[in-house]
Amino acid sequence: MPHEPIAVTRSSMPPIEEYFEEVSGLWDSHWLTNMGEKHAKLEKELRDKLDVPAISLFTNGHAALECALETFSLKGSIITTPFSFASTTHAIVRKGLRPIFADIKPDDLTLNPAKIEGLIEDDTVAILPVHVYGNICDVEAIQEIADSYGLKVIYDAAHAFGEKLHGKSVAAFGDASMFSFHATKAFNTIEGGALTFMDERIKQRADQWKNFGIVSAEDVLYPGGNAKMNEFCAAMGLCNLRHFDEEISKRKVAVERYRERLDSVKGLRVVKPSPGETSNYSYMPVLFDEDAKRDRDAIFRTLEANDIHPRKYFYPLISDYACYESTYDSNLTPIARSVAKRILTLPLYADLPISSVDRICDIIENEM
Ligand SMILES: *Cc1c(COP(=O)(O)O)cnc(C)c1O
Repeated sequence: MPHEPIAVTRSSMPPIEEYFEEVSGLWDSHWLTNMGEKHAKLEKELRDKLDVPAISLFTNGHAALECALETFSLKGSIITTPFSFASTTHAIVRKGLRPIFADIKPDDLTLNPAKIEGLIEDDTVAILPVHVYGNICDVEAIQEIADSYGLKVIYDAAHAFGEKLHGKSVAAFGDASMFSFHATKAFNTIEGGALTFMDERIKQRADQWKNFGIVSAEDVLYPGGNAKMNEFCAAMGLCNLRHFDEEISKRKVAVERYRERLDSVKGLRVVKPSPGETSNYSYMPVLFDEDAKRDRDAIFRTLEANDIHPRKYFYPLISDYACYESTYDSNLTPIARSVAKRILTLPLYADLPISSVDRICDIIENEM
């Protein structure tokens, strides 16, 4: 009997009746966007969930990240990781700043604090690390460097929604964090995102920025963009948030099965968060050894041939993209360069059956 195809992810959705109920009032109010009732409710619920002084919702995570850079009025260079999604570096470049790539740690693949200091230049104004796969960065070491050089720290926390480190919300580190609520993320609003701030006063600027810099009906302070979350997306968020903990516990079961099966397989390593972290089980990254019998690309092809669709997150490295390769040399970040060639992100979502996890592991085990 042929198997169903298995995609790398599958968006979480609430029961359809629950969503209908949530949006039905919009047919009375006819208030579809511009910080309506759903927007206000979701903002409040997420501020509580993430346990932060302030939060602003956005149309997507990328716009939120660009807004963060603008809100702190940053000019000059920013130290960041090349091992991420395009958005991280693109935001820096699109805001007229210059990225400086630092290497990653071999264990959890986050920005290596030991590589930051030597790269700081006269015009360096911030550090933009990524909690990649939800692995929380070495936040203390990064903050220490930032403090001694007077740098802002803005986290790309797109993968880290709902996580904690030693009981403290992931959003409580640095000056600001960006979350993505894209359909493929652990918590989604279809498309959406948020910025969280440790200084409540910054929120006002972000709120103005996402609405053309409009302060009041006759007052426009600066040329902001348009990045408001609409009511239908906010309503989706309200519904998905009710099911978030349950979704995460289902993901956990799948991840634990993967780990149980793959931990003993020679030639690869399951990439895990650091101890002390409450994970959201967003991704299932495995790293193939340099001298493995079968390499990443071979396993990728075999899985594809079985209608199983993992992704090479994150390959290529951002610094190797056609738009950056003539400016940057990825040999300067050797760990990131090597990891990008050996990493594979396996299918994972809340409703992924354990039998599918087993089938994927059987194939990998047989090949290695
Ligand atoms: C998804 C993602 C983003 C961008 O989020 P969008 O909501 O899709 O704009 C940024 N950084 C990382 C690491 C991501 O995975």
